[in-house]
Amino acid sequence: MSDLKQTYKTTCSYCGVGCGIEITRNGRDRLNLSGDQCHPVNKGMLCSKGMNLHYTAMDRSDRLMYPHMRGNKGYPLEKTTWDTAMQRAARVFKTLIDRHGPDSVGFYVSGQCLTEEYYLVNKLVKGFLGTNNIDTNSRLCMSSAVAGYKQALGEDSVPIAYEDIELADCFLIAGANPAWCHPILFRRLEAHKAKNPDTKIIVVDPRVTDTCQSADLHLQIMPGTDMVLFHAIGRCLIDNGHIDEEFILNHTDGFNLYRKEVMKMTLKEAAAICRVSVDEIKLAANYIGRSKGFITMWAMGLNQSTQGVNKNLALLNLNLITGHIGKPGSGPFSLTGQPNAMGGREVGGMANLLAVHKDLANPQHRQEVADFWKVDKIREEPGLTATKMFEALRDGKMKAIWIICTNPSVSMPNARLVDEALSNASFVVVQDISERSDTAKYADMLLPAASWLEKEGTMTNSERRISHLSQVIEPPGEALPDSEIICRFAQAMGFHGFDFKSAEEIYSEYCELTKGSSIDISGLSYERLKKEGTVQWPVYDSNHAGTSRLFTDHKFYTPNQRAQIKINAPGVAAEPVSSDYPLILTTGRIRDQWHTMTKTGKVNKLNKHLPNPFLELHPVDAAARGIGDGDPVVISNHRGEVRVNAVITTNIKPGVVFLPMHWGKLLGQDFGRANNLTDDSIDPVSKQPGFKFSAVEVKKYEKP
Ligand code: SF4
Repeated sequence: MSDLKQTYKTTCSYCGVGCGIEITRNGRDRLNLSGDQCHPVNKGMLCSKGMNLHYTAMDRSDRLMYPHMRGNKGYPLEKTTWDTAMQRAARVFKTLIDRHGPDSVGFYVSGQCLTEEYYLVNKLVKGFLGTNNIDTNSRLCMSSAVAGYKQALGEDSVPIAYEDIELADCFLIAGANPAWCHPILFRRLEAHKAKNPDTKIIVVDPRVTDTCQSADLHLQIMPGTDMVLFHAIGRCLIDNGHIDEEFILNHTDGFNLYRKEVMKMTLKEAAAICRVSVDEIKLAANYIGRSKGFITMWAMGLNQSTQGVNKNLALLNLNLITGHIGKPGSGPFSLTGQPNAMGGREVGGMANLLAVHKDLANPQHRQEVADFWKVDKIREEPGLTATKMFEALRDGKMKAIWIICTNPSVSMPNARLVDEALSNASFVVVQDISERSDTAKYADMLLPAASWLEKEGTMTNSERRISHLSQVIEPPGEALPDSEIICRFAQAMGFHGFDFKSAEEIYSEYCELTKGSSIDISGLSYERLKKEGTVQWPVYDSNHAGTSRLFTDHKFYTPNQRAQIKINAPGVAAEPVSSDYPLILTTGRIRDQWHTMTKTGKVNKLNKHLPNPFLELHPVDAAARGIGDGDPVVISNHRGEVRVNAVITTNIKPGVVFLPMHWGKLLGQDFGRANNLTDDSIDPVSKQPGFKFSAVEVKKYEKP
């Protein structure tokens, strides 16, 4: 790479908004970063995290630069060569598969992986290792939305584009705080409201967040009561005649059952359960019913629940009964937390999915993908999903795990189970950029990966927009792009079909597989992405401009092309509060940190915002426990405890407490890991854990 000044286009690698970034490289190591003025997503804007992203690439204080492995459990990690590491990994995987079967191994990857990497690891595991044990941290954030879309619309397809924000006049934002977690998207919404003051924003959240500052109505419900609220709003819409009868009749199934279900509960009963007023429910329904363009937005507050799929469906139903889908300024819009969670979904990057929206349960679909990969077959049974994978490791049913670009020791619910599982595993491979994550210490083999800016590839943002990421700098030491590591391992295993010479070759193979599917991108080459910029799928041929909005013909991906208004059986009940643990713990993000802080935690500017973990507690609950603002408190339940300082605030409902989810043990906050406490019960359909509802008690911490 030359030392001359050069400008590169790339995409922010934090949230799923997918902002365009320009990097100017001046000399070998000096990087300047700015928002891409021409990018349709952010038009030059960046949030605090995005504008400091290059520091994470330049800080090499904790970079893993060479492969390391232990001779045996308990021995120190020692530097080794790539060849030795790959031969050893292949030997271990072959032995375990021979002795215990292919399900004794698994891969746990990340919504930060590029599409090429995600595609390859799925090909490796499902096509060649003979197991479907490949899951991802997207299981923790988007799997309930995936299942909701599939049930209601026939496929996992986000119908709208960001440009619909500027065309809508009513927004229902549920279980999301985009002002902090999707800031640039939210700035577009704020700007739209500033220009169009009649635009209504309804926020549904148990906490008063920064997003509420722009809201016309904040429905501060009790955690877990979302479905009751959405059904009550649905009832009001029906009562007021604010439904689209023509759309319901011609393009949906299930309305009569829906009407029967929502009429079972009075508004008064619903209001009492949600702990909001009847008038507030009526006002929300009135805003929605009178709107011309209505967008529902949601994130973890709905997805991270043992009722996550049903909550998604209940919200989607509000779009379907009002006919607000497939037209400008209208539609359901799940907010993706990770930069390429969407790309991962496209390539089938979960234990129950198959590439390009094909169905793992369908024998023909499995054979089509197997034929494409030139393998005999793909197994029918879904693999182990995130929480089940770690349970299987703990119980000795799974022996080896390969973890790519994620830090489950901090991010998984019931984190102590994860620590136990990783300690108990026969073989743990951690492939990452950092040698110091909480998970890395369990590794039997540590493999140095190239970071953002050090590799080439593509990502898809929340609105199906595919972008190309340029390589700007060389990886340090012997670090390699994740795709190259996967290819080297596959070749060490003796598998064919992994002799790619570039990321572009992998992408081209994947594009070929998409041909004829609903996510066809066979018309979108690297050359075109580099020349034209970002494009939204599907992109059917090289002249097709991409697709900003889906379902404009009101034909859905279901067998009869009608959207399904669904009322499902209840999911798993959330963990009940009790006299021992009477408070509901909910967890979430703060503005300037991202995930487990392995990147944002290294940036001084970002650490200044909220430097330490804390517990939000209502004054009534604090007074009952003799806790003052700033006091050290211990939050506990039968899974573990957390010790932080209390923030006493009326921003949270009585009976509810909040902990940020970012801190782990290695950040000098031994007692701040929120997931010591979270419940690992999962939604029965999406298998997503219910991070937002765990029973706890809080006491003032007295030093022993
Ligand atoms: Fe990056 Fe998301 Fe911020 Fe955009 S909004 S700069 S994608 S973190």
